[in-house]
Amino acid sequence: MTGQEQPPRREPGRESPWELAVGPSPEHWDDWVELDPQAWPERKERHFRCVPTICFNCESGCGLLAFVDKETGDVEKFEGNPVHPGSRGRTCAKGPATINQVRDPERILKPLKRKGARGSGEWEEVSWTEALDDIGGRIRAAIQEDRHEDVMYHVGRPGEDHFVMRMLQAWGIDGHNSHTNVCSAGARFGFTTWFGADRPSPDYSEAKFALLLSAPLETGHYFNPHAQRIIEAKEGGTKIAVVDTRLSNTTAHADRWISSWPGSEAALLLAVARELLKRDTIDHAFVERWTNWRAFLEARDAGGPGTFARFLELLRAEYERFTPEYAVEECKIEPGTIEYLADEIAAAGSQFTSHLWRNAASGHNGGWQVARALLFLHVLSGSVGTPGGLNPNSWDKFAPKPPLSPPAHSRWNEKLFPKEYPLAHYEMSFLLPHLLEHQDSKLDVYFTRVYNPVWTNPDGCTWIEMLEDPDRIGLHVALTPTWNETAQWADYVLPMGLGPERHDIMSQETHAGTWIGFRQPVGREFHRQETGEALDTLGTNPGEVWEEAEFWIALTWRIDPDGSLGISKYFESKERPGEPQTMDEYFGDVFENSVPGLPEAAEKEGVTPLEYMRRYGAFAVPYAGQERYEKEGEVELAGGERKAGFSTPSGLLEFYSPTISEWGFDEHAIPNYLKSQVNWRGLDLEKGERALLPTFRLPTLIHTRSANSKWLQEISHTNPLWVHPEDAEALGLENGGLARVTTEIGYFVVRVWVTEGIHPGVVACSHHVGRWRLHRDIGGAQLATSLVDIEREDGTFLFRQKEPVSPFSSSDPDTSRVHWKETGVNQNLTFPVQPDPASGMHCWHQKVTVSPAQSGDQYGDVFVDTKRSREVFQEWMTKTKPAPVGGLRRPLWMNRPLKPTEDAYRL
Ligand code: SF4
Repeated sequence: MTGQEQPPRREPGRESPWELAVGPSPEHWDDWVELDPQAWPERKERHFRCVPTICFNCESGCGLLAFVDKETGDVEKFEGNPVHPGSRGRTCAKGPATINQVRDPERILKPLKRKGARGSGEWEEVSWTEALDDIGGRIRAAIQEDRHEDVMYHVGRPGEDHFVMRMLQAWGIDGHNSHTNVCSAGARFGFTTWFGADRPSPDYSEAKFALLLSAPLETGHYFNPHAQRIIEAKEGGTKIAVVDTRLSNTTAHADRWISSWPGSEAALLLAVARELLKRDTIDHAFVERWTNWRAFLEARDAGGPGTFARFLELLRAEYERFTPEYAVEECKIEPGTIEYLADEIAAAGSQFTSHLWRNAASGHNGGWQVARALLFLHVLSGSVGTPGGLNPNSWDKFAPKPPLSPPAHSRWNEKLFPKEYPLAHYEMSFLLPHLLEHQDSKLDVYFTRVYNPVWTNPDGCTWIEMLEDPDRIGLHVALTPTWNETAQWADYVLPMGLGPERHDIMSQETHAGTWIGFRQPVGREFHRQETGEALDTLGTNPGEVWEEAEFWIALTWRIDPDGSLGISKYFESKERPGEPQTMDEYFGDVFENSVPGLPEAAEKEGVTPLEYMRRYGAFAVPYAGQERYEKEGEVELAGGERKAGFSTPSGLLEFYSPTISEWGFDEHAIPNYLKSQVNWRGLDLEKGERALLPTFRLPTLIHTRSANSKWLQEISHTNPLWVHPEDAEALGLENGGLARVTTEIGYFVVRVWVTEGIHPGVVACSHHVGRWRLHRDIGGAQLATSLVDIEREDGTFLFRQKEPVSPFSSSDPDTSRVHWKETGVNQNLTFPVQPDPASGMHCWHQKVTVSPAQSGDQYGDVFVDTKRSREVFQEWMTKTKPAPVGGLRRPLWMNRPLKPTEDAYRL
């Protein structure tokens, strides 16, 4: 066990989770023996050293054990790390598939520099020194010339908790961009404005009822750690209901599937709230003590009696319109659904939990109100922060930082946070091409890192246009272990280590507990354990693959070689002043000084904290417990008590959000319902119009990163259009035939799957496949991509697959056995940007017209008109409520990644 292991809290009689752990326990890690299956029937022993690390195939941060052959030094396989408190020895399919990625015969092994025009596919090898000098020199010049906002780091998946943020802070630039607004901004905004934390952390362990509005059993945030806890809860008697338009794997394990119309979820939840209020099955004491009901009365009932009874009276009146009958009609759900949910929530009381992350909150304008409405149910039932309830995520995550912190910067980069979106959670990342054009600005150095916006984001063709334009992008540096669509338009492609080839600290809110995990480069650690010598990853990773942390430190020293800019001191060796820190120095400092309990746990074993983390790969940080708002603190309650409360402006749960009201959305300052852009009333079914649900993942794939795994690609490689039998008949579509799906800016041609697993009137298509490359031998994994031609004319793009995926020869004989013929369709290219005016979330659901494929259409065709996409951007801009309010760009209390000083918030 690692450190102060938190005793698992489970129902009496429930089996320990450890019996399913397949990985060997730590005492066997130095010499684990298995028989060589290839040598059978000879009983040939193979000896392995097991090195713990962390999976990087999604953000869950599960522990992996790398089995390194002691004879060859090669990693043979990955299994789960049994002493990792989040994943407890288990993985999903993507964890063990890491071995495919490490051995990928097409991986990029050397730094590359563009030779021809951007996108031409012509590259030459370049040394790390040359790349560092070029990139570092440009950044140094930008800083010296006070052009800090010309440098941007755009990350898809951080996979770590503080390193890069701290580095950017040291550089003094407001240049952190993320993928958040194509992912989770809706949920973040909804949760933040209620309880001051931007995501939920369900405690499944003692829940009596779980309401899932995401798909955590197959793909969710956090997939494997949550899935195992949900199944344990179910085995212990927890009832589960799933709200999902689509029959997901998660739904298949539920007691009840509620297939509601996409975008109507807030109406459904508010109808449940009305039912709880009508029955008076609510936790009066909790609501009275912890919500800001007085602020609501001041705003909406000035001069009234100001009593809690009056608040309840107004509450009932406010939600009276959300009758069960209204919900049945609006959400197109079965009669009895609202009553069922009210029964279950009332019976569970403080042991009601739920999960909502992307999914329903990411699909439509006002998606953030789904989070507001869901948390309303927790408030009414008194299940906020209780055992079996819903915690603020900030309680269940621990992100340690080095003791020496750079000061906050005082800049405001409008390419990230434009005035039009003062409440955005967070950077308006997917609008970048439009913002650069709108603001007529440029980026001199633009890093993309585990980020593939051309393929992932809506309106990818506008990204292509931006990346091609030297007046918008001076230098594009793609930091990536593998090729992706966006990297094809880079100036440098720099090969970064895969998960088991890099150092990172990770922590995630996987349960009511806190832990840190240590990702470490397996080859380096194996070498250190065998020889005692600690090398750089440039010597122990394959080829010239470097790890990012070492790369960033080297780059920082290129930017500030003599320390005159005051930057390099944050990455300076204490033992060797004037020289860069090593990884052992950096992480040793963090583990020694910033993780409570770890030095003591290490001391007990007679090792340093760093050695402890290298040995076990994870540590359970002592947990501060639940119901933390009741601890002593600074929030004064009505009776004069001083409690810790919540991280909102009032310190209370903000049923009524003064922030939302003041910043232009008064009507939605309380949990409310907005009719979405795919509301069924706006569809003409006779004309073939349908709602497209494009937000779901495939459990075995992970966006851009899984294309180089042969096992995962063999399991999942296509994304057919889910069509209900009634719609197939009405639209003249055949199972297995081709359909053309037309959006506001283009269309795509996709294969049809007729299934009852989708709501009538709605079609669905996963965004996880549809990968493509422009050149035969470079630009994308041949296992997973189609070779395409792009016909371009005056802002239009027609992508046509000219060679489907097919067997090919490589150092891996399995690549000659590729048997699948289709790689899906990149539907996101055909979506216009649809930024929610409040949260900034891209509203993914599309109003589309579906028809059988037309003459000349081919599977995989994608057509886009970027002139039209610019018009749609302008249309959505008219819905915004720009800053300033009270002279501010953004409410002071609202967080930002890389938060600047307060004066930067002032306009
Ligand atoms: S859930 Fe995520 S982190 Fe865990 S094994 Fe699967 S891909 Fe890796």
